[in-house]
Amino acid sequence: MSERHTELELVQVTKKYGETIAVDAIDHRFKPASYACLLGPSGCGKSSTLRMIAGHETVSSGAVLISKKDVSKLPPAKRGTAMMFQNYALFPHLSVAENVAFSLKMKGTEKTSRLKSAGEMLELVDLSKLADRMPDQLSGGQQQRVALARALITRPQVLLLDEPLSALDPFLRIRMRSELKKLQRELGITFVHVTHGQDEALALADEIVVMNNAVIEQAGSARDVFDAPKTAFVARFLGGHNVIDLPEGQFALRADQLTLTAADAGRMEAQVLDVEYQGTHVSVTTRIAGNQDVAVLMSDRDFFTQSQNPGDTVGLTWEQEKLHRLQS
Ligand code: ADP
Repeated sequence: MSERHTELELVQVTKKYGETIAVDAIDHRFKPASYACLLGPSGCGKSSTLRMIAGHETVSSGAVLISKKDVSKLPPAKRGTAMMFQNYALFPHLSVAENVAFSLKMKGTEKTSRLKSAGEMLELVDLSKLADRMPDQLSGGQQQRVALARALITRPQVLLLDEPLSALDPFLRIRMRSELKKLQRELGITFVHVTHGQDEALALADEIVVMNNAVIEQAGSARDVFDAPKTAFVARFLGGHNVIDLPEGQFALRADQLTLTAADAGRMEAQVLDVEYQGTHVSVTTRIAGNQDVAVLMSDRDFFTQSQNPGDTVGLTWEQEKLHRLQS
């Protein structure tokens, strides 16, 4: 690990709201200067975890360490973290530049100096031209960049983002996610981004931390987690996988790593249930013994050279090493 980078670590971090255990003794060391996504379904404890890192929520037990120092009892402004909220929370009566400079004003920084810093941050997010606008004169994507500039002006070592793209339309969301990634690389600080979207996590994250039922189910690089899900939950939640029960146990098998063959030429026989054209790909849903549905994803070209119809009997085949045993 490089010494100059901040390390964020969670040690047995727990959050209880009355009887509800929202986060259950999680341990995790985030890789310094990396883009991490906390991924999981609604209610699994992602936001509570993020808010405890930020200091907007107290830790019921355990500790949040930043550069090996326990910051669990420190107020948000003293942790070296900054949070960007889902709804951006811009002040409607302040200009873009004043919104960005706001936290410096609170710290007592004098006007010329704080507007200069705000100008630098607006340059970073490519909004210099709009410094004098009011928030209601901005598009959703522009508001989001103002919110980013406002979070970054405190020069945080860790930037925390709570569903930052959810208010944007799908087209803008894809554009903004590449901007976020670029910004993280340029700044060289740790980003922790909460999302329930697997596509978003796969596209952005150096590291994906998959949460389920208040615990971390699996953490690793996007590729490792997608390629080798450890549990049926992770395989199903990431999508693109079949979870198949065989006599030897439960396995994950990627839909795009299955091939259709003639009925007697595969490892297994199956009936075609449904065919869905998806543009570049065709998804064929088949049913194998034990009434298990298995999806096969193939290129449109492969499909249309050997076109299958619902009701056809086919064979399924795969390379044996592509079959991943799941923990029960
Ligand atoms: P996620 O961000 O993954 O959707 P949350 O961290 O928001 O999950 O919530 C985890 C669990 O804690 C849920 O069961 C939720 O209902 C509960 N919870 C979250 N915030 C509060 C709160 N302020 N008071 C009581 N329960 C809460």
